[in-house]
Formats: sequence, structure tokens, C-alpha cells
Amino acid sequence: MNQNKTSLNPNVVIVGAGVAGIYMLHKLKNMGLTTVVLEKSDELGGTWNWNRYPGARCDIPSLEYSYQFDEELQQDWNWSEKYSGQPEILEYLNHVANRFDLRKDISFEEEVLEAKFNEESSLWNIKTNKENYESKFCIFATGCLSVPNKPDIEGLDNFKGQLLSTSYWPREEVDLSGKNVAIIGTGSSSIQTIPEIAKDVKNLYVFQRTPNYSIPSNNGPMDKEVEADVKSRYVEFRKENWSNGFGLASDSGEAFISESDIDDVNSQLEENWNTSGLGFFGGYADIPIDVNANDVAADFVRNKINEIVKDPETAEKLCPKYHIGGKRLCVDTGYFETFNRENVHLIDLHSNPINRIEESSIEADEEYEIDTLILATGFDAMTGALTSLDIVGRNGIILRDQWKQGAKSYLGLGVSNFPNLFTITGPGSPSVLSNMMPSIEQHVNWIADCIGWMIDNNKSVIESSLAAEEEWMDLVNEIAGMTIFKSTESWYNGSNIDSKAKAFLPFIGVPVYTEKLEEVTSNNYQGFIFDVSNK
Ligand SMILES: Cc1cc2nc3c(=O)[nH]c(=O)nc-3n(C[C@H](O)[C@H](O)[C@H](O)COP(=O)(O)OP(=O)(O)OC[C@H]3O[C@@H](n4cnc5c(N)ncnc54)[C@H](O)[C@@H]3O)c2cc1C
Repeated sequence: MNQNKTSLNPNVVIVGAGVAGIYMLHKLKNMGLTTVVLEKSDELGGTWNWNRYPGARCDIPSLEYSYQFDEELQQDWNWSEKYSGQPEILEYLNHVANRFDLRKDISFEEEVLEAKFNEESSLWNIKTNKENYESKFCIFATGCLSVPNKPDIEGLDNFKGQLLSTSYWPREEVDLSGKNVAIIGTGSSSIQTIPEIAKDVKNLYVFQRTPNYSIPSNNGPMDKEVEADVKSRYVEFRKENWSNGFGLASDSGEAFISESDIDDVNSQLEENWNTSGLGFFGGYADIPIDVNANDVAADFVRNKINEIVKDPETAEKLCPKYHIGGKRLCVDTGYFETFNRENVHLIDLHSNPINRIEESSIEADEEYEIDTLILATGFDAMTGALTSLDIVGRNGIILRDQWKQGAKSYLGLGVSNFPNLFTITGPGSPSVLSNMMPSIEQHVNWIADCIGWMIDNNKSVIESSLAAEEEWMDLVNEIAGMTIFKSTESWYNGSNIDSKAKAFLPFIGVPVYTEKLEEVTSNNYQGFIFDVSNK
């Protein structure tokens, strides 16, 4: 991109060119604000650009995991499958960028290293690997799942074979045929990729720390009748989804397991297993809040695992023991079936921890000779992209330090001490506990409206108040405390990374969140403070 005076002093700098960054750019450009997007990759797409592993797929139906801001776009675009694969989502995001002429305002291969608020000028000074920018607003569209967690295993750096990561998968085709391959981790990415990889490799060694619940996607070609029906009433369809707890069409169960006949429950769960994917978890309204109801659903899935996996010992290892849904529920295509293959071997890390990695092997209960090692060890979720660089607010406070005991944010949009900084799907918003595409659009629309309101009302600086932030995070935790989410160790509360503060971060409940957001806006951005003099 050609740098000129305007682009180095834009009104707004957006960091990240994923789903969030590109829509934010579109909105602000339409408002006439000079805006630049800084993206460290040489491509846009964020998640869908980085995570190119075989089997990478969205587990929210395509007709829901798509932008809704432009009626013509949603009518014109046709998805080929019920659940879209990574290549098709990436193609879609590129289509959006081209269609709305966004590419020329994105600077690629430009990583933000530091963002510092200047209290004299009330401007953000943003330092990248290429340039220095000065902007009034700085918007972090850096993603909730964009900083991979590298496991601390002795000898990992000495491994001389092919080292891959699901979250940095190479663009060129990776030929694993005939190889001995190990994969560490059994979260969502691993559950998607294992059935694909197993078809080609000589041996696949799956190193599992925690088993996961997974529901079959029952993916297939897009049903043209369903597509036509949705397209004939897209606005209404989106509204219906948004009124459900997790913002999903299928998540609409209102009955309680505790009040139902157990045979009826089991046949309903059977139907959900065969049709609902992620919606399985919301199939009954009490699964997330009542441990007994949760046990019924968890037992149902454990029974399925025992039915599918022929070797009882392997089946037992694959059965999770915690509350279903407390960790991100997974959706798969033939995951449990894959463990019936003779070339797939499950190693339980609790009974057989990895002692060390050698140049060409992994040493656990025995020595596994491998050609390729795949890391599928998750992410520094929700905060990693914001704490891995220096974001410096008032009085030299670094965001990473402010969040040492746990991230706090008002509505997941603003942070006290960090004026004119917005985060898209930040901690304290539904984000990862919702369909993220509409959650991102909701935040982008809100930020754009807020900036527009500030311009109309001659306000220069916005900042979340500490009191509002504290009160908000108390509510986040209070709601989580009523559910099985809080008591389950997961990346929602930082439990996947030993050194991370254990704090529950997503807001549970899209409709309540939406109400709160509207209330804040209609009360002139209650909880935010404007034009506070510099201390
Ligand atoms: C494997 C996988 C599967 C997923 N499946 C689903 C799903 O089924 N349903 C769902 O709702 N969500 C899913 N998600 C969540 C997904 O991340 C969101 O749906 C959405 O794509 C997030 O978009 P984003 O723009 O907010 O962030 P991202 O897509 O993460 O984009 C952030 C961008 O910021 C860039 N960036 C970060 N830091 C810097 C920096 N310092 N300087 C410059 N650039 C920077 C990154 O390179 C990246 O391009 C999945 C995530 C993963 C990883």
C-alpha cells in the first residue's frame, strides 16, 4: 500500500483484517472517516486464512455464519454446503472485500507492535514493523482465537521432523501419505482434522489431555429448498436466531429435561444428535443450568461414544467426564469412528504423559517414532492478541498488566484507562459463546454508531468508567455462576494455560446482552465517560 500523509494520520486505525476488521473498515469508510487496516498476514480472512488444516470447517450453518449487513450480498452469495469449509469462507471474505472495494485500505504484512495513548494530544501512536501512525481511534479486531498456545514440552524445539500447527497450516498441499504422524491436542481443530489425516497416514498417534464431547455435523450439500426459504425471509430468520441464547437457529429448545419423561428425552436427544450439531447443547433449556439435566445429555453422548468405538478401552478414554458444553462443544465428521481404524492410536496423557520430544520421536509410555508432529494445542483465547503486544493507556498503564488478575472490560467494547480504544468481541461480550459472525456485526455497528454520536455531539474522547467495568464483569460472573460453564475447566476461563489468570470471560446470553447494549446506547452511552481531562 502506498503510504501518504493521510494514511499515516487516519481518523481510525483498525488492527486485523478478519471478519471484524473488514466490516469495520466498510462501515467507517461509508461514514467518510479515513481508516486504515493493519494486518500482519499477507492475506485477509483472519481465522479462515490461518487455519487451513484438512477438515477445517465452520460448525455454524453457512446460512447463519455470514454477514447480514447487505441484503444484496446475502441474496447473491450461494453456499455449497450446509456447513462451510475453510476455503469457501475465505473465498467469501475475499468476495466481500472486493465487492465493497476494501482491499486498498488494508496494509498487509504489517504487524502492530505497540499502541500508545498520548495524553497531551489524545491520539493513539501506533508502531508497526513498517511505520508509525497517529490516529484518534484505535480498534482492535484481532480476534478471540488468533494466538496459538505453544505447549511447554521438553525437547520440542529439538524436533527435526516436519512440525506443523493446525493454526499456522501451510498454504501449499501437505502430503502426509505413508508417514508416521503425531497430533497433540484433541480440541475442535483436532477433532476436525483427525478423520481427514487418518485416511492418508501410515500411523496416527493422537495424544489426548482432555477428551471432548462432539456431535456429528451431518454435513452435506446445501439443501436448495432450505436456502430458498431462508433467502425469502432472511431478515426475519436472522432476528429469530438472535432471540436465542447463543444466537443460533437450532438452539431453540424450551422444554426442561427435569420436567420431561426420560424416554421422550432420549428420543428427542437422538433426533438432536442426528440433526442439530452445536444445537444439541441447547436442545433442552436446562442442560446448561442444571447438573442433573446436564448428566442426562452427557450420558447420552457417552453412550454414543461407547456404541461407535469398538475397543472398550479406547472408548472409555474418549468419554469426557465433565459437564457437556462446559468446554466448547465440538462438531465432527466421523471423529469417533476414526478410532476404529487400525492405523489410529490414542495415547491418554494423564496416564502416559509425554516425557520429552526427541529429534524424531515422542517419548511417553513408549517411544513413538514419527515423521510429522502436529500441534493442535488451542489458543490463548480472548485476550492473547491484546496482551501479546504493548497497548499503553493513561499513565503508562500496559493492558497486559491491568489484566494480570483477569481481563475486565465494559461490554467487551471498552476498557478503563484506554480512551478511544475499542475491542471487537472483547472479554465480557457473548463472542465465543455465540455465533460470532452476527456478534461481530453487532459490535461493529455499535462502535460506528458511537463514533458517529461523538462526532454529532462534539465529544472527542470516550473511555469506559472503572465502576461500570467492575459492575459489568460482576454480572458476567454472576450469570456464569448460574450455569455449568463456571465450574468446568476450559479456555473460557483460562484453564488451558497454566500461567493465565483464571477468570471467566464470555457473557452468556445474546438476548440479555443485546438489551443491555441498547439500554446503554439509549442512555447516551451510560457507563462511558467523555472528554475526561488528562491527569
Ligand atoms: C479453527 C477455528 C474454527 C472456528 N469456528 C467457528 C465457528 O464454527 N463458528 C463461530 O462462530 N466462530 C468460529 N471460530 C471463531 C472465529 O475466530 C470467528 O468466527 C471469526 O472468524 C473471528 O473474526 P475476527 O475478525 O474477530 O478475528 P480473526 O479472524 O482472528 O482475525 C484477527 C486478525 O488480526 C490479525 N492480527 C492479530 N494481531 C495483530 C497485530 N498485532 N498486528 C496486525 N494484525 C494482527 C490476525 O492476523 C488476524 O488476521 C473459529 C475459530 C477457529 C480458530
